[in-house]
Amino acid sequence: MTDSMLPPLTSKNWPALEPGWVWLCGAGPGDPGLLTLHALNALRQADVVIYDALVQEAILEWAPQAEHIYAGKRGGKPSAKQRDISLRLVDLARAGKRVLRLKGGDPFVFGRGGEEAQTLVQHGIPIRIIPGISAGIGGLAYAGIPVTHRDVNQSVTFVTGHDQSGNTPSSLNWRAIAQGSQVIVIYMGMKHITRIAAELMEGGRSAHEPVGIVTTATTDAQQVLETTLSTMEADIAAAGLEPPAIICIGEAVRMRQVLDWQGQIAGEPVRDMDPLGRGRPAESA
Ligand code: SAH
Repeated sequence: MTDSMLPPLTSKNWPALEPGWVWLCGAGPGDPGLLTLHALNALRQADVVIYDALVQEAILEWAPQAEHIYAGKRGGKPSAKQRDISLRLVDLARAGKRVLRLKGGDPFVFGRGGEEAQTLVQHGIPIRIIPGISAGIGGLAYAGIPVTHRDVNQSVTFVTGHDQSGNTPSSLNWRAIAQGSQVIVIYMGMKHITRIAAELMEGGRSAHEPVGIVTTATTDAQQVLETTLSTMEADIAAAGLEPPAIICIGEAVRMRQVLDWQGQIAGEPVRDMDPLGRGRPAESA
C-alpha cells in the first residue's frame, strides 16, 4: 500500500475539534510515539494547546498552527493555580477557540483531569476526553518491567506519594497497601520515599523486595535504578535521581533482567533468562 492509499487522519471518520470545545487529552509519558491517533488528530486541529510541565515540547511540533500556552505546575503547589488553569480553559472556549488541553500520561490518572473536566461541564463547555498512556504503565514498560505478569501478580495498586498539600496522603493506609497489594506503583513518590518505604516494611514487606525506579521515562534522558525497599533511599541519593519518577515495588521488577529491551538494543547481554526461577520456558503453561 502506498501512502496515498492510506486513509487521511482527518476525515469524516475522525472527530472534529469545533470552536468553543475543549478536548482533554493525554500526551503519554514523553516519547511522542506514544501519543494516540486521537491526540494527533487533536493537535492538528487546535487553535490553542495548553500543556503541562510533563508534556515533552517536541510533541507541540505536531501543532505548528496553534498557540502554545505553558501551564506548568509541579506537585505540591497550592490549588489556586489549578483554578486559574481550569477557568482559563473556560475563557478560551468561550472566546470560540478550539482548545486542546494536553496533559502528561493519562488525563484521568493523578492528573487533575477530572477536576478540569468537571469545571468545564459546570460552565457549559462541551468536552471530549482522550486517554493517554500513563507513566505507571508505559514508563515501566520502557524499563522492561511488566506491570502484571502471570507468575507474579493478579493485581496492581497505583498510589500517589503526596497529596495536594505536598504531604503523604493521610487517607492512605500504607500498611494495608503493603498487605493487600502484590505490585505497588507509586506516582509522585520521591519526596516521601523514606517514610513510604518504612511504612511498607512495617506493614510486612520484605526489606529485600525489588524496587524499580524510572525517571523521565520514555524520553532520551530516561534512567532506571534497580534497588530494594531497604536500600532505595541511599541508592536514589547515590544515583542522583530526580523526579519525575515512577517507583515500582514488587517481584515484577525482576523481569527487567530478561526484558530490558532498551539495554538489549544498546548491546547489553541478557542478565538472566529466567529471573523468576520458574525453571521452564515462558511459553509453557
Ligand atoms: N497523568 C500522569 C501522572 C501525573 S502525576 C500519568 O498518567 O502518567 C505526575 C507524576 O507522574 C510524576 O511525579 C511521576 O511520578 C509520574 N510521571 C509522569 N511522567 C513521567 C515520566 N516520563 N517518567 C517518570 N515518571 C513520570
